Amino acid sequence: MVDVSIPCTRCQRPVHLGDEFCESCGVPVGDAERDALRARLQASSSEAAEQQKHVRSARNGMAVLSGLFVLGGAVMFFLGQSTAEKALANLRGLDEGMTYPAPINGVTYTVGELRAVIEREPYQLLGVNFLLAAIMLGLFFWAKKSALPATITALAVFVTVHVGNAIADPKTLAQGVLVKVFAVIVLTRGIRAALAARALEQKLAKQRI
Ligand SMILES: [Zn+2]
Repeated sequence: MVDVSIPCTRCQRPVHLGDEFCESCGVPVGDAERDALRARLQASSSEAAEQQKHVRSARNGMAVLSGLFVLGGAVMFFLGQSTAEKALANLRGLDEGMTYPAPINGVTYTVGELRAVIEREPYQLLGVNFLLAAIMLGLFFWAKKSALPATITALAVFVTVHVGNAIADPKTLAQGVLVKVFAVIVLTRGIRAALAARALEQKLAKQRI
């Protein structure tokens, strides 16, 4: 059995992994002590070290996804701008107040309104992608403290975005499919490892009672 302990910061009696408070003097176990206890566990148990490796990969995956949303947003912005320029060229010479003859997605626009919608679209794409990048970066930082809920949230956000995209435009399903599969694998493995790590800590805590 692996028994991991460090001396209590106040009374120097051993504090164990899973303890909320020192059993001898009642001082709360802080984040720094918990990190030290986990590091000891990983050094003495290959099972814990393996779990930690997957948890860390998932966390790094969140940073990579954040970067990819920034990159993807920038690419979509420039592609969107060139598409918008072409669309605006078709409207050139038309009067602002005139009703555009063909409704778009069931909505009738005046030429002026349509111009505004077309001009706005690349910025909206950029904004959504930067927002997603910020969320992933936030989850990356949260994962250091709370690996399990952060990784579950990251997977949920990632899957929701891509399922939503695929419903809105089925063509997007095949885009970057390797990255998508890889991200889902890394995040899922991270969730499984974080669950296993928690179970291992609980088992160790129970064995001491
Ligand atoms: Zn103590």
